[in-house]
Amino acid sequence: MDWSKASGDTKVCEECNLSLRDVVKAIALRDADSIDEVLSVTGVCSDTSHEDCHKNIQEILDIYVPIYAALKGGCGGG
Ligand SMILES: [Zn+2]
Repeated sequence: MDWSKASGDTKVCEECNLSLRDVVKAIALRDADSIDEVLSVTGVCSDTSHEDCHKNIQEILDIYVPIYAALKGGCGGG
């Protein structure tokens, strides 16, 4: 899955009804930068047996966290 090209309605976890939009909102609005923070903000997928959605969330974090960090922090030295 290429999350940078996926639509906001794309399901990150069918079982938890978690969409890409929900995860991006958690990153953008709540400064979530880890799987645990995304889960606590969204209140879903807290079941650690959801290995697949945790993997998806990590992939989304890898893409969007640097983007929003750059937007918020300006030119912070990497
Ligand atoms: Zn899940």
